[in-house]
Amino acid sequence: MERELHLRKFENGESLKYPAFHAEAFCTERGTSYLKEPGVVMIAQSVPNLEGMRTFLKGFDDELGFSQYLDDPVKLDPSAQIVKLAGQNCYMSYGPKRSMNKDATGYIENIVSSGHGSVMEHPNFTLLFYGVDRSFTHELVRHRAGMGYSQESQRYVGGKVLRFVERPEFQDVPELHKQFEQRIDRVADEYKDLTTRLLTLQGEGLKIVSAEQATDKRKKVRQAARAALTNETEAIIVVTGNLRAWRHIFNMRVSEHSEVQIRKAIHKAYKCLKEVEPTGFGDFEEVQLNDGTVGLRTNYPKV
Ligand SMILES: Cc1cc2nc3c(=O)[nH]c(=O)nc-3n(C[C@H](O)[C@H](O)[C@H](O)COP(=O)(O)OP(=O)(O)OC[C@H]3O[C@@H](n4cnc5c(N)ncnc54)[C@H](O)[C@@H]3O)c2cc1C
Repeated sequence: MERELHLRKFENGESLKYPAFHAEAFCTERGTSYLKEPGVVMIAQSVPNLEGMRTFLKGFDDELGFSQYLDDPVKLDPSAQIVKLAGQNCYMSYGPKRSMNKDATGYIENIVSSGHGSVMEHPNFTLLFYGVDRSFTHELVRHRAGMGYSQESQRYVGGKVLRFVERPEFQDVPELHKQFEQRIDRVADEYKDLTTRLLTLQGEGLKIVSAEQATDKRKKVRQAARAALTNETEAIIVVTGNLRAWRHIFNMRVSEHSEVQIRKAIHKAYKCLKEVEPTGFGDFEEVQLNDGTVGLRTNYPKV
């Protein structure tokens, strides 16, 4: 599906971009839902409040000219502004001799090439991933530094929300596609049967699945019934990372060495982030890989 772009407009006429790549849901003949592509939705990004700096900057000797930091006529993308401000704070470069916003691209390129990566830890981007399975999330959550995750819980969620993800390798091979559809029908049935059986046992007083509250009762059943679910089960996840951490993930996961599903999903994440922050990801180049997917390369993998 095509990229979608939402604009959030502010009273001063400025607007923020929130890109998304959506994915269609399909159904087997028996009604089991599945997706073929990852969906990626940008749901949040850091926005600086420069005005809040005014009193702080006024507290220095007028001769330093720090107050005019806020009057730079060139407006930057929010995250570029945050990175530039954090970098300039290191040298208290708020005066007239500082790098101006018109030179921000060169300024940030210099940060990237010199490996001064900590200033890139300030802007955060939050993305929601759907149409991705448990193997995707299991790999993604291994990235710890600078990342935060909130994943759909199989202990709480099941039933009608249950969907599956067809791997790219199966989609264009009729025999594998058919097997996939048969498999998810079977898994969905088995999950339902197991849930029903466990609920019955709960009603009959089986201690290990017993609970006082209704939600706890459901949880006790679902945490056991999910044993029937395969890696192909969809696992919707909200992911927040700072600019530096996302750079690391793009480098590790949109590569020929990474697994194809994670590569495709994280490439979409890259496209979303590159659109709202062209400079901080400006050194990444897209390359065509032998399997028809896209990889990313940079000369600065570890910033
Ligand atoms: C192609 C590929 C194949 C893989 N195969 C396997 C596999 O077979 N089995 C397996 O278990 N895992 C595998 N992994 C996962 C891999 O081992 C890492 O866990 C994963 O890539 C997370 O990256 P990271 O270690 O760079 O951590 P991140 O959390 O992304 O950290 C970023 C950077 O911060 C620093 N850092 C983070 N945490 C620490 C720490 N505790 N101490 C010191 N420095 C730290 C490191 O410099 C690190 O590179 C694979 C990953 C890839 C990309």
